[in-house]
Amino acid sequence: MSKVIVVGGGASGMLAAIGAAECGHSVTIYEKNEKLGKKIYITGKGRCNITNASEMDVLLKNVIRNNKFLYSAFYTYTNDSIVALINEMGVETKIERGNRIFPVSDKSSDVIMALSKRLKELGVDIKYNSIAKSVIVKETTAIGIELENGNKIYADNVIVATGGYSYQTTGSSGDGYRMAKEVGHNVTKIYPSLVPFNAKEEYIKELQGLSLKNVKAAFYCGDKELYSEFGEMLFTHFGVSGPIVLSASSYLTEKISNNENITMKIDLKPALSFEALDARVTKDFSSNINKDFRNSLNDLLPKKLIPVIINLAGIDEFKKVHDITREERHKLVLLLKCLEVTITSTRGFNEAIITRGGIEVKEINSSTMESKIIKHLFFTGEVLDLDALTGGYNLQIAYSTGYLAGISVY
Ligand SMILES: Cc1cc2nc3c(=O)[nH]c(=O)nc-3n(C[C@H](O)[C@H](O)[C@H](O)COP(=O)(O)OP(=O)(O)OC[C@H]3O[C@@H](n4cnc5c(N)ncnc54)[C@H](O)[C@@H]3O)c2cc1C
Repeated sequence: MSKVIVVGGGASGMLAAIGAAECGHSVTIYEKNEKLGKKIYITGKGRCNITNASEMDVLLKNVIRNNKFLYSAFYTYTNDSIVALINEMGVETKIERGNRIFPVSDKSSDVIMALSKRLKELGVDIKYNSIAKSVIVKETTAIGIELENGNKIYADNVIVATGGYSYQTTGSSGDGYRMAKEVGHNVTKIYPSLVPFNAKEEYIKELQGLSLKNVKAAFYCGDKELYSEFGEMLFTHFGVSGPIVLSASSYLTEKISNNENITMKIDLKPALSFEALDARVTKDFSSNINKDFRNSLNDLLPKKLIPVIINLAGIDEFKKVHDITREERHKLVLLLKCLEVTITSTRGFNEAIITRGGIEVKEINSSTMESKIIKHLFFTGEVLDLDALTGGYNLQIAYSTGYLAGISVY
């Protein structure tokens, strides 16, 4: 039996502690906050999308960076493993759209409760309000941690599960990056990811709160299409958000942060070709022939969007529909097929669901999560350079890497 310190009581730290304690080790979690799992509490809009029920290839495909690194972790501690654990602790789960798994109660607090219950069963000691400052290393071996209050705690193994840099009020304020650097690890540049975008156009403010379903959004740098997706998006007071935008940010956050000019082109009617949409507009016009232009689009567009489209089309809103020229109609159709939004920046880390970047995974043994630089030191969860799309995959990364480290301590 060895003595194990886990730094951080989030999803990853809790699973690391569970893994190590199940192997019979003596485990203590040092958690900065007054309670465990503060970030889990806000996941899935308070419902916690625990994991995803898809097959392994889908899980891995949804990890955007360094997914090969996760093979051992994902196969060692699967989506079924976490669901089984939570169920055994008395919390029932359900599968929703996109194979997303939630607690039946729709309460993230139940997930924290389930994990806490297992920690208690296993006798894991938890020190709250304890901020780890650094890892104590002797030659090339971790032998403990130093707390911010100067106390030194010695152990046979240290597992650092301090999370990333997003939503810092939950406790993840990047401490693990610093600790890793201090002992010789490289940390890649970090960016906010799964994050909304700021946009330039003034009209965006008028659309605040408008959610569009079944649109296609394509993101361009100059003439080059970088990413496109069908689905749902949302206009906000600062720009754009919603599922399509958050996913796009996984691919584009670096480019946007580096000030590359990114344009989002929204096809409001992706199911119709230009010609088909033109025919549809022509039909709508013919049934509104004597109306003002501004009263002719009600069947085609959400109310909030109509004044904006009219303005952008440059057609007088009081023009009678029968006076609208073919050129003007074509301009309108083009606009409906390609509403342009200029992306100026991403929102900050405090609005980012995850942090892109982190400790370089090539310096970590993927079969154990142990550092290749310092023996008996392990890194798990979001502190590593791993990130996935929404759908429960990010928490799965946290559990799988955490548990694998827990069962690998020696
Ligand atoms: C709003 C929001 C919604 C999300 N929804 C989902 C979702 O539904 N499904 C999903 O899969 N993912 C979701 N995520 C992402 C997911 O929550 C994270 O990827 C995951 O929590 C990372 O787990 P972690 O244990 O690595 O880090 P964290 O959960 O951030 O835990 C790190 C812990 O370490 C502690 N800590 C930090 N530094 C120190 C220190 N120096 N000393 C002691 N303790 C320290 C922190 O207080 C914290 O408790 C969401 C994220 C956000 C922000």
